[in-house]
Amino acid sequence: MSENKEEWHEVTWFCSNCGTKVTAVQNSEGLSKAECQRCHSVTVRRKMGRRHSRIEMYAAKMSQAAI
Ligand SMILES: [Zn+2]
Repeated sequence: MSENKEEWHEVTWFCSNCGTKVTAVQNSEGLSKAECQRCHSVTVRRKMGRRHSRIEMYAAKMSQAAI
């Protein structure tokens, strides 16, 4: 048996900036990255454990005035 052991999972979540649903592909290391189609924020999600994942967000634009 020579199965490809790479595990690519499609994962979806909602952009924490604007709430748009984003889709990413998670690689075998548990790392997934997606750019929001609406606000272009980049979210990187890293799976730390079975029930623990870390989310990092990178806002692409500073066009909206910060409060
Ligand atoms: Zn967004």
